[in-house]
Amino acid sequence: MFVITMVKNYILLFFSLLALFSSAQNNSCPTVLSFDQMQKLQAFQQRLENGEVILNKKAIKYVPVKIHIIGNKNGIGYYPVSFLLQTLCELNTRFIPTGFHFFLSDVVSYINDDELYEGNSDAIWNRAGGYKDSKAVNIFFHGGGMQWCGVYFGGVDVIFIKNSCQLTDATTLTHELGHFFTLPHTFSGWEGGNTPGNIEKIDGSNCRTAGDGFCDTKADYVSVRWSCPLFSNLKDPNGVIFKPDSSIYMNYASDNCHSRFSNEQMLAMQNDLQGRNIAVPTVDLRSLPAPQKIAPLPGATNINANEVKLNWRAVPGAFAYHLQIARFGNWEYLNYDQLIYDTSAVADLFGDWPYAWRVRAITVANTCSSFGTVDTFSTHESPASINEIGNDMKGLLYPNPSEIGQTILIKTPIGTQVILCNSLGQTVTKFEPSTKAEIELKIAEAGIYFVVFKTSENTFVKRLLVQ
Ligand SMILES: [Zn+2]
Repeated sequence: MFVITMVKNYILLFFSLLALFSSAQNNSCPTVLSFDQMQKLQAFQQRLENGEVILNKKAIKYVPVKIHIIGNKNGIGYYPVSFLLQTLCELNTRFIPTGFHFFLSDVVSYINDDELYEGNSDAIWNRAGGYKDSKAVNIFFHGGGMQWCGVYFGGVDVIFIKNSCQLTDATTLTHELGHFFTLPHTFSGWEGGNTPGNIEKIDGSNCRTAGDGFCDTKADYVSVRWSCPLFSNLKDPNGVIFKPDSSIYMNYASDNCHSRFSNEQMLAMQNDLQGRNIAVPTVDLRSLPAPQKIAPLPGATNINANEVKLNWRAVPGAFAYHLQIARFGNWEYLNYDQLIYDTSAVADLFGDWPYAWRVRAITVANTCSSFGTVDTFSTHESPASINEIGNDMKGLLYPNPSEIGQTILIKTPIGTQVILCNSLGQTVTKFEPSTKAEIELKIAEAGIYFVVFKTSENTFVKRLLVQ
């Protein structure tokens, strides 16, 4: 049931990486807490002020998170599983002082929706709620479009994170989780270039009523992204010159400046979590050993590229297995990167290539486990799979080789999806399954291309040379 077509995956990954690395990293977060949330927070801060809340070593709270990964309507642009598992692993390290440990409440959900993928606010307000797990923190990863890196939508109570803003060592999700658990920005009141009526002073005399209302976070007036230390100085209402504290997750300093929540912030988060009543008393925190592989046997050759069957022995307690396949063992360019909730998978790869594969077992609460040994196999592209498309597929691409700007005719059986990829596997263009059996195409750049044909039963790839 988790048969993932490899070609699609290959394209998808490159698409994701492109999306990830081409977008700007200095986008901000427009989250402003609702009136209701601010009221609750202020009530809690009054209790802090009255000395009614004492910082004590609390038992760890296990917090369920439901992950939703959004692609466009064609299923392109998913946040890669590798980044997801790494993010969850890093998140749990960052939240150790808070006493929170996040765990997967359920399988990772995939949603194909152009508007959600673009982070369209109306779509989020109208539709995101329908996907929610009401007993978890709901985190949606999307491809971009809008300027912001992450938003906590208070009304729907969901977090939206742009894929490109949550790569290795990023703190976007940590910041948004702070909002989720009622934390305002340290520069609260200055958002959008405004100046608040009551400006927080550096001597702490109005810390409860100005800024974020916490007295152990320093005054901060900077509502744009900044690198630390802040290049210029700030001046408070008493004329005191200072620089803001870059270390707090809830400011707009660069991700690499962030390292902590303040004690009062952590207490406020604990207070909010308690009110939500979603935490559970215990989860399986073990780092599981990697599973023992069964097939393909190490060094296997001549495997049908279109249907590579992989399986391994179950690891007791495993929630899922993270399976990766990379051509030439180049793990930076994965051909397959999926969570499998079973002990077998069928990968649809392509070409006559050597591939390497590895697998690891995770629990819902520990996604930091190691991969086992790397094994290799090699494939061949079965001519039979081409014949299965039908005899009318002869003369599939014409002319091939062809020339720049020349009209290329592609003939397909009705209902076939055709995807044109460049030599890096990046999608150049794609044609939806249609009633047309002929597609005309012009290519503007010389190179080797791959034309991927997908039907409901089969996928195969034909090389196209443009000179
Ligand atoms: Zn924010």
